[in-house]
Amino acid sequence: MERSFKKEVQALKLGDGETFRGEGILAVTKALLQSGVSYVGGYQGAPVSHLLDVLVDAEDIMAELGVHLETCSNEASAAAMLGASINYPLRGAVTWKSIVGTNVAADALSNLASPGVVGGAMVILGEDYGEGASVIQERSYAYALKSSMWLLDPRPDLPSIVRMVEKGFELSEASHAPVMLELRIRACHATGEFAAKDNRKGVVSGLNKLAGPPRFEYGRLAHPPVIFTQEKLKVEERLPAARKFIREQKFNEIVDGDVSDVGIIVMGGLTNSVLRALERVGLADVFGASRIPLLVLNVVYPLVPEEITAFCAGKRAVLVVEEGNPAYIEDAINVELRRADLQAKVLGKGPLPRVGEYSSDALLEGLAAFLQAAKPAGLDADTLAEKARGLIAHKPKAAAALGPLPPRPPAFCTGCPERPVFSAIKLMQRELGPTHISADIGCHSFATFAPFSLGNSILGYGMSLASAAAVTPNMERRPIAIMGDGGFWHNGLITGVASNLFNKGDGVLIVMQNGYASATGQQYIPSSTTSRDGPTPGVDIEQTLRSMGVKWLRTVRTYGVSKMVKALKEAMQTAEKGLKVIIADGECQLARQRRVRAEDAEKLERGERVTRARYGVDDEICTGDHSCIRLSGCPSLTVKPSPDPLRTDPVATVVESCVGCGLCGEVAHAAVLCPSFYRAEIVRNPNWRDRFMHRLRLKVIGWLGGYDGKVAA
Ligand code: SF4
Ligand code: SF4
Repeated sequence: MERSFKKEVQALKLGDGETFRGEGILAVTKALLQSGVSYVGGYQGAPVSHLLDVLVDAEDIMAELGVHLETCSNEASAAAMLGASINYPLRGAVTWKSIVGTNVAADALSNLASPGVVGGAMVILGEDYGEGASVIQERSYAYALKSSMWLLDPRPDLPSIVRMVEKGFELSEASHAPVMLELRIRACHATGEFAAKDNRKGVVSGLNKLAGPPRFEYGRLAHPPVIFTQEKLKVEERLPAARKFIREQKFNEIVDGDVSDVGIIVMGGLTNSVLRALERVGLADVFGASRIPLLVLNVVYPLVPEEITAFCAGKRAVLVVEEGNPAYIEDAINVELRRADLQAKVLGKGPLPRVGEYSSDALLEGLAAFLQAAKPAGLDADTLAEKARGLIAHKPKAAAALGPLPPRPPAFCTGCPERPVFSAIKLMQRELGPTHISADIGCHSFATFAPFSLGNSILGYGMSLASAAAVTPNMERRPIAIMGDGGFWHNGLITGVASNLFNKGDGVLIVMQNGYASATGQQYIPSSTTSRDGPTPGVDIEQTLRSMGVKWLRTVRTYGVSKMVKALKEAMQTAEKGLKVIIADGECQLARQRRVRAEDAEKLERGERVTRARYGVDDEICTGDHSCIRLSGCPSLTVKPSPDPLRTDPVATVVESCVGCGLCGEVAHAAVLCPSFYRAEIVRNPNWRDRFMHRLRLKVIGWLGGYDGKVAA
């Protein structure tokens, strides 16, 4: 895995009276154990990958409490796990990245929310919205709204996060509805402390098992005719019960302020950012005291009408800070105020941007516009707005003083086994012409950036083959669908392969077999050669495809560019109908480097021989046309001034970060570029044979160069 939490998870053993210190994501795990969960699971994805990694590293601690851990094959299977809480008093939590994971889980979530739960059921969502997000920009809120699941959005400090996890289970049980808790990336990595409590064993768990199923109850099934009753229960019983519990248990917070004719209603997760914006113009202090009153919504759905009206009563205007689109909360607040005949003006989208992350500057600008529009008594709104705009204007000036920064688009790691496949596709296209590329989610989507610029559509994780279904019959050349092994097991096997075989499709599928869910931190997948507890289930992609009836199948080592070009040309040109699959085999280089580095360090300590390959360019031969750079895109392959004073073009060079994958040499060979590349082997702890060969080589080179043959040992 990308990062081990073995040391940090010891904090999960802390008990009453001790202080927990660490990251938000670790605090969530501790809160789950303090809440007496019986099961946990999920599917990795930023910003909650580490939650699953922490759970895996804490497996022995969870075993002591009888907690079952499942690393699910996708978000739908994680959501379906929550079905254990429909009939039994089992508390359970699952996690994934949203919005994409919630889309995948949607069917199971609807079928969970309809009958409702008796044990607390919680989904911890990594809300990947805003700057730095890696998925489509949509909100999870819509799912809460449509399925009647409650959405918690805790203020990003550890005590609030922990309280919301613990109270969230109580809310779920009090209202018989599942609960979602969203965490933005900053909340996941916020560090802090909280007073720990003892971990609790679940009422029912692996240590205290159920004797058998409950008395048959049709109402626990999401099936007609009870679905009609369940819809009524959601609206007439669960929603009022949830609102009552939220109000009584004071989930939402009020921050009092002396400027009482205006106020701010803020999503809990944005509280710190709003307080910082207020602090920048002198309306709050660093400890969170604010002159403008705040209503902090740690529960963003459902809203509690009484809390909204009580906060807005007597105010001339309120600012609703709701990140993203549509403005569900702002619209709902408008409705509640009209129903209560309160005249407070509601501002939100307008002063604040309609879309995009509410960064510090966006909030500052929005706040300034709000204050100027609302003109609160006792404040000089124009001066404050001027101050805010002055602060914002500072940034471009600082940037200009620094000068332009080089762009840093995301790219494959140095030596990535997936890069050569795209070099091969480029070479194949040179001969056969361009074709449609159905891209997918995973590291291989970096090929959509320069220098490859390969990919015409992305429809979701494991969806590439399915998304080529209607392109194939309408295109002269066969389209190529590209899928990682993570995507293959997540969805691609059924949605893509089974559907293609069933419909007698005729496209080309490349499965990148790098051995892990690499983009999310090298988590194990069913076909990994190892697993979290050692033995593997022995699931094999090639065997699986053959057993399903794929006839045209080649497994090619990714770094063998010539062989890959040959396989691609064959797949594109064969008269054989049906799905053509190329398994592009090469271990994730990042995972490999971590493994090999540790193994080499041990060998060196034992005084054993260790070798490392490095590639280089002979700058006397390099012509400086840079085709190798354009075809491989390796960040370790760059340019330097030519040592030849008669040549002005810079020559190619390999820098220190080279991992010796050999792609540049392979590309030079496959594309018949030049003989400039050489491979060198760095030997540490050389044996007698290495020393002998070294002396011999130096002698021969010296002799060929006309020297006297005397060489240093
Ligand atoms: S993490 Fe692995 S698969 Fe992903 S880009 Fe890096 S080397 Fe390639
Ligand atoms: S410079 Fe060549 S051998 Fe080194 S990592 Fe890049 S492609 Fe691989």
